[in-house]
Amino acid sequence: MSVYSGAVFDMAARQFAVIADHLAIPHDERDRLLLPKRAITVSCPIHRDDGTIAVFEGYRVQHHLTMGPTKGGTRFAPSVDIGEVAALAIWMSWKCALVGLPYGGAKGGIRVDPASISKRELEGLSRRYMQEMIPFVGPHTDVMAPDMGTNEQVMAWFMDTYSMYQGRTVTEIVTGKPVSSGGTLGRREATGRGVAYLAKRVLGDLQIAPTTATAVVQGFGNVGSHAAAELHRFGVKVIAVSDHTGALHSAAGLDIPALLRHAAAHGSIAGFSRELQCDPAEVLTLPCDVLVPAAMERVIDADMAAKLQCRVLAEGANGPTTPDADLVLAQRRDQIFVLPDILCNSGGVVVSYFEWVQDLQQLFWEEEEVTRREYHILDRAFDQMVARARKDGISHRTAAMAIGVEKVRAAKQTRGLFP
Ligand code: GLU
Repeated sequence: MSVYSGAVFDMAARQFAVIADHLAIPHDERDRLLLPKRAITVSCPIHRDDGTIAVFEGYRVQHHLTMGPTKGGTRFAPSVDIGEVAALAIWMSWKCALVGLPYGGAKGGIRVDPASISKRELEGLSRRYMQEMIPFVGPHTDVMAPDMGTNEQVMAWFMDTYSMYQGRTVTEIVTGKPVSSGGTLGRREATGRGVAYLAKRVLGDLQIAPTTATAVVQGFGNVGSHAAAELHRFGVKVIAVSDHTGALHSAAGLDIPALLRHAAAHGSIAGFSRELQCDPAEVLTLPCDVLVPAAMERVIDADMAAKLQCRVLAEGANGPTTPDADLVLAQRRDQIFVLPDILCNSGGVVVSYFEWVQDLQQLFWEEEEVTRREYHILDRAFDQMVARARKDGISHRTAAMAIGVEKVRAAKQTRGLFP
């Protein structure tokens, strides 16, 4: 029996089994690499605006502490459970190791629909969650960040709550903070920028000029919106976008700057245009050069993978593609270039690392330096992944994960098993 269950955890375990087989990792070593070091569940009571008390369940999973503190986002969503959080923590480990950050993976979350509570209630819940986590987190133990349903404001509340308990300002306890509170320039844009940067690099390799290319973006949160903005800036025609409220499609290309302004003002793409509305279920299968799933896990299953009509699959979300879909994509290797999530969306945690470093040093960088260093790390990891995939005759995902798992394994082996 294990507390970790559910489709998302099973997916992370299945992916790991593929890597472990590929690397011929002995069976008695596998649980040590896969199973999280710690999982914390807390009850977060808050005063509702109507005077009643409500209790929300919160989680934090720290996958491994072998290479430094753990690092990862905090998700506020009604679907959050401990199995999903554990899977996301495991993926963070392989991601951080792949790009060379001195972190293990973590993830946290609260089972809540943030749209269903007021701003005052959200602040109370965010603060109570951090307060419950104080014994388990720290700038050298576990560093939180935003994820789905959280943002810079929530990070500022986390940082403030932690700091009030410490009696001094500890900006390095979370990343993804507002620049006014110790955040770094370029963090807000970092994930989407990285997705677009890598997609452009692949288009170049495929000899497709960005100005002749088309893109489709599923999800218009922090990742999807900045990916769309950056692709648009490169001259790519973004022909379709969707979010939880619906979808928009225009063969001539959407007016992305106008859509960004609309989403910033209204919180979603709803109400932008009646004529351009389309069925969100059809967005992923539209013919395009770059497809960016930047919403939920497991949106591309085997059926969907067979129907994709993109040249580049740039995974902005964590875990958008199931292991069954990977089998289909392996058959379609010559048609679709996969940029796997742990590489494609790693710009976010890379710049989180820069934020942590700047906070620890109290020395802040220009945005240009942040972005230049981000792209340098993405290029290096991309080159390593492609070279490994070629050398071993494996998929990009297997190659990227194998590099990550190998690094964690080497660190565990050289440190040894205590006591
Ligand atoms: N939540 C983001 C991710 O899944 C960012 C994590 C971080 O910046 O620590 O990669």
